[in-house]
Amino acid sequence: MQRFQCYINGEFTDGEARFESIDPATGLAWAEMPEAREADVDRAVEAAHNALQEGAWPKMTATARGKLLYRLADLVAENAGKLAELETRDTGKIIRETSAQIAYVADYYRYYAGIADKIEGAHLPIDKPDMDVWLRREPIGVVAMVVPWNSQLFLSAVKIGPALAAGCTMVVKASEDGPAPLLEFARLVHEAGFPAGVVNIITGFGPSCGAALSRHPRVDHIAFTGGPETARHIVRNSAENLASTSLELGGKSPFIVFADADLESAANAQVAGIFAATGQSCVAGSRLIVESTVKDRFLEILKAKAEAIRIGSPLDMATEVGPLATRRQCEHVQDLVARSLAAGVRLVTGGTAPEGAGFYYRPTILDCDGSPSPSLDNEFFGPVLSVLSFETEAEALRLANDTRYGLAAGVFTQNLTRAHRLMKGIRAGIVWVNTYRAVSPIAPFGGFGLSGHGREGGLAAALDYTRTKTVWLRT
Ligand code: NAD
Repeated sequence: MQRFQCYINGEFTDGEARFESIDPATGLAWAEMPEAREADVDRAVEAAHNALQEGAWPKMTATARGKLLYRLADLVAENAGKLAELETRDTGKIIRETSAQIAYVADYYRYYAGIADKIEGAHLPIDKPDMDVWLRREPIGVVAMVVPWNSQLFLSAVKIGPALAAGCTMVVKASEDGPAPLLEFARLVHEAGFPAGVVNIITGFGPSCGAALSRHPRVDHIAFTGGPETARHIVRNSAENLASTSLELGGKSPFIVFADADLESAANAQVAGIFAATGQSCVAGSRLIVESTVKDRFLEILKAKAEAIRIGSPLDMATEVGPLATRRQCEHVQDLVARSLAAGVRLVTGGTAPEGAGFYYRPTILDCDGSPSPSLDNEFFGPVLSVLSFETEAEALRLANDTRYGLAAGVFTQNLTRAHRLMKGIRAGIVWVNTYRAVSPIAPFGGFGLSGHGREGGLAAALDYTRTKTVWLRT
């Protein structure tokens, strides 16, 4: 069995306890993970606090910080194969996807390497002739980063990259469900040469390790990605240290298809939008809202594509859908499908788990027209698409906004005037028109409503890891 360690104050160390990590493709333990508890959290946060105050990091120029980030980006690219394999092994996310994603994880680090020396302050034109007044941008301080199991390398890169560019120090808590890739990434942080204590990477359970980290008195900011219920715990914990928070939460994203859309291309985007990562994506296009005149035709295309998907070992390059990450997640999907069927929805395809070991579930489509289905308002975080149809543009918009979430939306139409109207009316942080799931380090990412607040990606995310200091100088 492979053994992993935490990375605290520049050293690889065991946690206070250990736990076994389960391979989702077999349901069997494959690795031993360190379990950080309160004393480990304390050591990690103290290390981050000390690295912020003294030693090489606070004296380093922004350009030098950028160079370290470029080195880290190169190391991520050089070690892409190993990182992708570990992420696949520990979370079940297929190797095709983890390999592709590592390439843009490196891009994100490279982007923030270039941002490091572009974070500028200002000189303020105060109406006093004998005063010079500046606004300095300083690092926000010690950042606690708490991430979920899906896409841990990516979801931590969008936090670690801008935080390092801004000069912060940090403690990253990998999810207990699949921490291997982030614990391995710690080796690259070490090799890149960041001073001890600048980046600390631990793992442990949410209610113990995550809670101790988010209420720690030396934490200044908490960057969280996960579910809304956990976010409530985090925000309650932050009442202790009064840390600021940024929250990237779940979604129930509408995918609107008009009759004039290129249906084949929309269907490809819909299939990838809901079944990629076995549906365990915050931006999964999980609510199809399709114009009634093309509903039957579109569902036929989707059904054929869903049934042709190759389900298999996540380590096989030919596999298109792998297992869910945990038994708990698989049971949640099964339960929500069963409740939706009991509420009267029509099963178009899927709805069962394939024979054999592992946490697999077939790509599933539920026709929810005419049934008040629990599948429409609850996040599956699994390979299940709920379908509704509409008659008018106004109805499409109403259905799209009929959710407590507001992370992303897709609009498929050849009428760009209509696309513009919808783009303005949709309540979501990202709207994709005739495409879905496109990402770039330059484009901010984040949600409205239950999908959280704060934005990741882009220059503004680096500024969010700074705070301003106003300096008055009598001349
Ligand atoms: P989760 O909320 O259960 O766990 C996320 C992290 O929080 C884990 O590291 C966990 O250990 C920690 N945690 C749990 N309880 C805690 C507590 N009481 N205090 C502090 N930390 C605690 O989320 P999950 O089930 O691992 O991931 C799925 C959720 O994440 C979904 O809702 C999904 O939509 C969301 N997500 C959002 C985005 C985004 O960018 N918006 C991206 C990916 C996933």
